Amino acid sequence: MLIPMELHCLTLRKGYLSPELAIGWQIGKYVEEFFDGLEEVWIAAARDDDAVLALSYLTRQHGHPGQVIVPETARPWDFLFYHLTTGTRLGFTLIRQRTRLPQKIRDLEPDLCVDNPAVVEIYQASLNLLIKSVLCQPVTSFCQVRQARCRRLLSKHSSDQQTSCHRCGRPVPLSQAWDIEGDICCPACTGLEPVWYTLH
Ligand SMILES: [Zn+2]
Repeated sequence: MLIPMELHCLTLRKGYLSPELAIGWQIGKYVEEFFDGLEEVWIAAARDDDAVLALSYLTRQHGHPGQVIVPETARPWDFLFYHLTTGTRLGFTLIRQRTRLPQKIRDLEPDLCVDNPAVVEIYQASLNLLIKSVLCQPVTSFCQVRQARCRRLLSKHSSDQQTSCHRCGRPVPLSQAWDIEGDICCPACTGLEPVWYTLH
């Protein structure tokens, strides 16, 4: 299997190559290409696993440290990116059957030990196959990607003027409103991380 040099360096440092490391790597490279860099991109991941490690590694090389956040509560996506310059939000949801080992292989996990080389071999072969499939296929083959335009409303109104959010109906000051695909929305309906829109 041909592994990109940068990923190979990360693998050497980590000591192994996991499917999550490969997934984080592939998604990070996809987003880097999509936005022509990672400098202006905010990044969130639903779980703190090897994918976060790969994304953090990429941001240290192509963006800046501390760029990846992991919220404490569940989110409706696996990875979320927001590009400041273009106001583009990209949400990634993993297709489980393409990013996890088959159930019959996961069932072998309790039997993985040095005394059982045949089981270890079967498990390792399946793991290698999964990693290879993640690294050789386009990101869209193992992820659903949702893109939306998501920008602060350019408003000359004073901050006390209110409107109603088109999505949830709650009142929102025009000075805090967002334009999501042409809908005027409150910050909570942007689908962005709260820490992002409070800073933005
Ligand atoms: Zn709303």
